[in-house]
Amino acid sequence: MEPRILWYAQSAVRIDAGGLIIYIDPYQLPEGQPPADVMLISHHHRDHLSPDDLAKVRTERTTVFASPAAAPHLNGPVQVLAPGETAQHGPLRIRAVPAYNLTKFRSPGVPFHPRDEQHTGFVLEIDDLTFYFAADTDVIPEMDEIGPVDYAFLPVSGTYVMTAEEAAEAARRVQPSVAIPVHYGSVVGSVADAQRFAELVPDQVRVWIMEPA
Ligand SMILES: [Zn+2]
Repeated sequence: MEPRILWYAQSAVRIDAGGLIIYIDPYQLPEGQPPADVMLISHHHRDHLSPDDLAKVRTERTTVFASPAAAPHLNGPVQVLAPGETAQHGPLRIRAVPAYNLTKFRSPGVPFHPRDEQHTGFVLEIDDLTFYFAADTDVIPEMDEIGPVDYAFLPVSGTYVMTAEEAAEAARRVQPSVAIPVHYGSVVGSVADAQRFAELVPDQVRVWIMEPA
């Protein structure tokens, strides 16, 4: 069955697949969204870990998985997934993967997303499909071990994450069938970054530039 994929804002996406409603880094959610079966939080920055948005869709039945960077900032039960760790939730298999900066610095020598803080991306397998959520990252060597995947959510806005050009390089490495540019339109970057990304990816990659849900 085809999954349903929604993009809300920034890196906030929802995947409905295998009978589960899965939110990743919920942010700027409109009212009236369905409750989460599974929630994944990549790191603690406020455009990824937004308490107000979490509260809109988290219930007692929601299972929350979070990186070591995010977990200390969350209330209630949380399953911590460090880079390289895996978990199973019903039909959903989750693998946490590294996400960090190599070339984006807050101050000299201090990256916005330091590798040793253990921020994570996620690789999800469900319904015979594979999804890669890169989170806030540069192109990193670990991307070579991830693909090919069916869907990849790649940040494209630069400054804190990959530029459109770098995200196209990530697409070359990860080999998604469909690439969905994210992390623009709210804090930094615009749809022009997503369009530039779409022009730069290899021909075999389809790019979905989504409207916010
Ligand atoms: Zn961040």
